[in-house]
Amino acid sequence: MPIYEYYCSKCKCEFEALVRNRDEEKSVQCPHCHSGEVMRMMSCFSTAPATGSSASACGPRSSAGGFK
Ligand SMILES: [Zn+2]
Repeated sequence: MPIYEYYCSKCKCEFEALVRNRDEEKSVQCPHCHSGEVMRMMSCFSTAPATGSSASACGPRSSAGGFK
């Protein structure tokens, strides 16, 4: 299941949230201040979870660290 990193613009914290579908993504709240003003952190690995073209998403480092 995809776990995304989020950033709360209200209390300026980062947290991880388990998002199984788009409805859950909309209702993600900050666990600290319960604000809905959160942004998903766009890391290399979370932008293209299931596609085979990881090279285009991550550039030259796509094969360096790999998926964890
Ligand atoms: Zn917060």
